[in-house]
Amino acid sequence: MDNDTGSVNHKLGRVFNIQKFSVHDGPGIRDVVFMKGCPLRCLWCCNPESQNTFPEIGYIQNKCIGIQECGYCIKACPKKAITNSTVETPKIDIDRRLCDHCGKCVDVCPARAITLFGQMMSVEDVIKEVQGGNASWRTGGGITVSGGELLLQADFVHDLLKECKKRGIDTAIETSGYGDWRELERICRHCNLIFYDVKCMDSDKHKAFTGVNNEVILDNILKVASQFPETPVIVRTPVIPEFNDSWKDIKAIVEFITQLQNLTEYELMAYHAFGEPKYRQLGRKYRLERVKPPKKEYISDLQQRANAILKKKSYK
Ligand code: SF4
Ligand code: SF4
Repeated sequence: MDNDTGSVNHKLGRVFNIQKFSVHDGPGIRDVVFMKGCPLRCLWCCNPESQNTFPEIGYIQNKCIGIQECGYCIKACPKKAITNSTVETPKIDIDRRLCDHCGKCVDVCPARAITLFGQMMSVEDVIKEVQGGNASWRTGGGITVSGGELLLQADFVHDLLKECKKRGIDTAIETSGYGDWRELERICRHCNLIFYDVKCMDSDKHKAFTGVNNEVILDNILKVASQFPETPVIVRTPVIPEFNDSWKDIKAIVEFITQLQNLTEYELMAYHAFGEPKYRQLGRKYRLERVKPPKKEYISDLQQRANAILKKKSYK
């Protein structure tokens, strides 16, 4: 039931994954709900299937049996978007301009080589899955809504979090902070914990690596701090070589976040390329293929220097 109207909530959201048993996205063991669609285009994004708002077909070529032995997807596609490949791998070609995401190829694929990213779910569907799949939320865990960027589906996320709180399920969000303040404000009212990305203080550089400037993001986090002083905020920075991996870049972020009265932790997250195969599945090019992940010792040195400043301000 919708709290405001007393009627059944029929709102739908596009979700691309519900990850069970996560231990990195808030207290306890959590279910992470990944919303599809993001206004940013971070070059290092490890969930490229999260970026577009529309559903997408992923093709895992090493699972595919091949068209001689199978070829069911070619016959099933009403748009003739799938054809025999002219090279050995991949075994089929998908013309994504013709595909309307009907999912018929997914249904007939015996090898699960084709996946459809992005299912429409109701608030009730999500809660059923979270409560039904495991009982981890009862043991100090809860739900964390992530993305993509959840602010693109703010209405749905608001209703989901509100309903979770009503049922005693702990709530957290992970946001880039890029979106309308009024929407973020409505969502924060139903959050017990906020993970917020601050990627770089230099707005031009931010735009070059993420596709958007940082003013809205910085402005919104200051508003979160002043309007929700009791809600803990964990700020995260992905550390990306050639973008923000110098101490100068990290120090600038640390100095900015010392103003946040609700900051409880600052986490540096080292760049990795684990998402690279997903770009191939989606028929896209991974643009950071030559970038090497930073050394563990380097990240831990940056983290210690950041913590030393934050300790002085007694946030840690
Ligand atoms: S989702 Fe539908 S239109 Fe797209 S490739 Fe598969 S069968 Fe064809
Ligand atoms: S139905 Fe699946 S296994 Fe068969 S050819 Fe198509 S993608 Fe490959």
